[in-house]
Formats: sequence, C-alpha cells, structure tokens
Amino acid sequence: MNTSPTRLLIHGASGRMGQALLRLAAAEPERYQVVGAVTRRTPSPRVVDGVPHFAASELAGVPAFDVAIDFSLPEGFDPVLALCVERKAALVSGTTGISSAQQSALAAAATTIPLVWATNFSLGVAVLAELVERAASALPGWDIDIVESHHVHKKDAPSGTALTLGQAAASAGAQVHYASLRAGDIVGEHTVQFAGLGERIELVHRATHRDVFARGALHVARKLLDRPAGDYRVRDLLD
Ligand code: NAD
Repeated sequence: MNTSPTRLLIHGASGRMGQALLRLAAAEPERYQVVGAVTRRTPSPRVVDGVPHFAASELAGVPAFDVAIDFSLPEGFDPVLALCVERKAALVSGTTGISSAQQSALAAAATTIPLVWATNFSLGVAVLAELVERAASALPGWDIDIVESHHVHKKDAPSGTALTLGQAAASAGAQVHYASLRAGDIVGEHTVQFAGLGERIELVHRATHRDVFARGALHVARKLLDRPAGDYRVRDLLD
C-alpha cells in the first residue's frame, strides 16, 4: 500500500472543478501533494498556497508528478494526455465533449499508462452502474427507463451519466429509454426504473454538491498508483 502523498498535477485549475480539487487535496496533505496547477492563461499570482501555477503554454516545464487530474475543456485535453504519456504518469480526466479522435488517442495512451476518463466521478454513481447491470441481467423483458434531471444551463441530453447507466443495462441485453428534465439548479439526479407486470423497482442517485466529483477523482487518482497501463473505469477502482 502507498503511504507517501500522491504528487498531483491539477489541469484546469482555475475552473469550478479545479478549485474544488485544490481545496480538497490541500485538506489531506498526508495523501495528496499538488506539485503544479495549470490554467489556460498566464496565472497571477504565480504561487497560491504554496502551489506553483503554470499557463497551458508552459506545460512542458511542470515538475515531476504521479497523476495528472484534468477537468478542462476539449482543447486542453491533447497536451495533458501527451504530457502524461511522455512522463509515464497516470491520467484522471473528467473533461467532457472530447471528440472520437481524442477517444482513440486515449485508447492508444492506455497501452502505455494507467488512466481513467469518465463522465461522472461520483463513487455513488459507480455503485449504481453495478446495481443496474445486476438488475437488468436478473430481470429480462422488463421495461427500463432512465430519467435524469439537471440545472437549466446543462446543454447535452441525455446526460453522459444517463448514457453510462444505459450502457450498463444494455450490457445485460436490455433496451433502455431516456427522459431528460432541465430545471432550476439541480446538480444531478438519475432514476433508473425497472417495470415488470404488477411490480416496479426504482434505483435513484442524487448529487447535491459538485464536490462529489472532485472527491471521486482524488480517490481514483490514488487507486491508479502502481496499476499497470490500462483504461480503467471508476467502478474498477472503488476499494
Ligand atoms: P470551468 O469552465 O469552470 O473550468 C475550465 C478550466 O479549464 C479553467 O481552469 C480553464 O482555465 C481550463 N482550460 C480551458 N482551456 C484550457 C486549455 N486549453 N488548457 C488548459 N486548461 C484549459 O469548467 P468546470 O465546471 O470546472 O468543468 C471542467 C470540465 O469538467 C468540463 O469539461 C465539465 O463538463 C467537466 N466535468 C466533469 C465531471 C465528471 O464527473 N466527469 C464533473 C463536473 C464537470
């Protein structure tokens, strides 16, 4: 078991997720040491709470790290993936909207480094996906519907998480239907309904705070240490 702090590079550090990652990592110095934080533009100040900050154009000069955690935008994804391959470091990425070419690059990188790319880093959703797969395989012929609710600013529908849950059901041979609601400031709710004749099961996950995604990404970062190269799911790294 690893006892020294994991050296992290936080990529997308000025964003909502980046800020949560910096705050939560700083609260556990015995487990995490942030050695660098990267933002799109030249940062000011250069050092915040002892963490050196770098612009995206300075990525080649960041200090040695064990794992890069990337929550940026698709245009920031290729450079951080290339850096991890070059440094033989692990990558945890939650950046959404990456292209199929970027997905292919991710698959190629997984032959040389351990990595996780996921649409949802909540550990609760990882467990929900397992439950959905189990229920779908035990209940052939039942109707499966996924209802997801998010805040009004979310553009994509169904959510990436709903599609991931749908894939879990489809892997057991089921056909899945989706419904999406956009209302208020809902962080994220997913209900997977299994309907048979005269009975119904509902599996529900509610995220009430964005920190769950940052906490899950930090957890996964530590679990990737000393793993062989590969493309892992959050589900593979729960304990
Ligand atoms: P945000 O807009 O608040 O922050 C984006 C960050 O990326 C900023 O720090 C910005 O400086 C940085 N950035 C942009 N372009 C860059 C580049 N070319 N190089 C380096 N850095 C660059 O966004 P957010 O809410 O923090 O979300 C970030 C990403 O994470 C989005 O893709 C979002 O959809 C995704 N997200 C994923 C999960 C999950 O669990 N998988 C959860 C929340 C958000």
